[in-house]
Amino acid sequence: MSEAKSWDKFYINGEWVFPRGEGQIEVRDPATEAYIRSVPRGNAEDVDSAVLAATQAFPRWAETSLEQRLNFLERFYQGYRSRLDELTEIMRAEVGIPTRFARTFLTEMSGEIIKSAIANARSYQFEQDFKGSLLIREPYGVVAAISPWNNPLFLSLNKIAMALAAGCTVVHKPASYTPGAAFVLAELAHEAEFPKGVFNVISGGGSDTGNALVAHPQVDLVDFTGSLDVGAKIAATAAEGVKKVILELGGKSPLIVLDDAAFEDAIKAGIASAFLLSGQTCGAFTRLLVPQKRLSEAEEIACVVAKDFALGSTEDELTVVGPVVSKSQQQKIQEFIRKGIGEGAKLLLGGAETPEGFERGAYVKPTIFSNVGNQSTIAQEEIFGPVQSIIPYDDDEQAVMFANDTKYGLRAAVWGSEERAIRIAKRIRAGQVDINGDKFTLEAPWGGYKGSGYGRCMGLIGFEEFLQIKSLQIRADLAASYS
Ligand code: NAD
Repeated sequence: MSEAKSWDKFYINGEWVFPRGEGQIEVRDPATEAYIRSVPRGNAEDVDSAVLAATQAFPRWAETSLEQRLNFLERFYQGYRSRLDELTEIMRAEVGIPTRFARTFLTEMSGEIIKSAIANARSYQFEQDFKGSLLIREPYGVVAAISPWNNPLFLSLNKIAMALAAGCTVVHKPASYTPGAAFVLAELAHEAEFPKGVFNVISGGGSDTGNALVAHPQVDLVDFTGSLDVGAKIAATAAEGVKKVILELGGKSPLIVLDDAAFEDAIKAGIASAFLLSGQTCGAFTRLLVPQKRLSEAEEIACVVAKDFALGSTEDELTVVGPVVSKSQQQKIQEFIRKGIGEGAKLLLGGAETPEGFERGAYVKPTIFSNVGNQSTIAQEEIFGPVQSIIPYDDDEQAVMFANDTKYGLRAAVWGSEERAIRIAKRIRAGQVDINGDKFTLEAPWGGYKGSGYGRCMGLIGFEEFLQIKSLQIRADLAASYS
């Protein structure tokens, strides 16, 4: 395989410029620990240059006609499609996701967000009569787009494409583990000939580069996806500048299996969701709530289904589960597994030891616990690794109570006869609830209740987050008297 590309400059004001910050971030493949590339660590001066460029570019970009803006995005999309293989390889190597998922979920599906942003902007009604006022939707301003490592293209494009389509300008900072794709996006924006300063990319750590970006007085909107703790800090910093913040944070999502559900399918869905992308998805159903009287049946099915989730090399087309993103994440997950055992949960499968034959890299055994108490650590904390907790419940009331007894509220699922499942879904405090299976779409709003954040991304509602509302109060009676 050819040597991976490194980037030593930032993309600011339509040019590749040397960073003022001196540090470097080394990126390693979590499957092999091999060095992949380095990118610069930006400092406050780099942040300042990028925000200044975005600030200066904003008025013209906001006034550029919608069709012209969407033409730039259309070219950006075409460029993206032409580099799918390269982007897939970056996703595989940096995130440690097996090739087939890196291609489909992480790369191809992410590109479709650009198309969605174009379509939503094109059909949007920017002006509207409203009870005697004329409501005008205008672009919000300079957007700081800060994303996590677990699905870098998807989570970044949800911010970037929507913001650009709305007429905002953007400074993007990717996560330090997975910065490569952001630099390719900058190359694509350059090739699409976006006006200077409309899209800027800098890399760096969270507490230095990220914090400087959030605190910058010229940033109008911070769009952040990441952990609850960092999200809370960001909200506090942004509040000092009275900035709008969108927070897409963690989850500990329940999947309730009712006693009249297609039982085997429901358990399968729960296991698949917890193990998908090595358990590193914010919307993973990591609490599998099953009726107490069918617990042993659920355990049996779970153990059979889990056989399909074997660990392997990320380069192997057949691999379903790869490593987690880093050695430190591996240790954190293994510590949670030890904690689960210590707190008395029944270990059905997996465990805290490093899997045999996978000593190199950050592999974790796909693990299933049963008879987990909803108050235990593994049922309350977001583990972000391939760990499922089966939690027995006595009746529907208790299932709803357990589902809601969490600091998070990102997603949930209910399996059972439709009417009953919908009734229960309406009582769950979460931003998206699946009934009898995954019906994920790029158009449905995505976002959390409670500690999972606020604001929504994706589709028309996600697009609207990048618009301000102005009401024009037109006194036609007086205007007539002047004429
Ligand atoms: P993280 O919070 O550690 O980091 C996210 C980003 O924030 C990174 O780019 C990081 O450099 C930056 N950052 C860190 N500290 C900062 C600070 N003080 N100021 C500004 N920026 C800062 O999250 P992570 O570990 O990269 O990602 C995993 C988390 O993301 C999980 O909790 C997961 O649930 C969540 N997530 C949520 C969604 C969603 O849609 N709700 C989607 C994916 C991931």
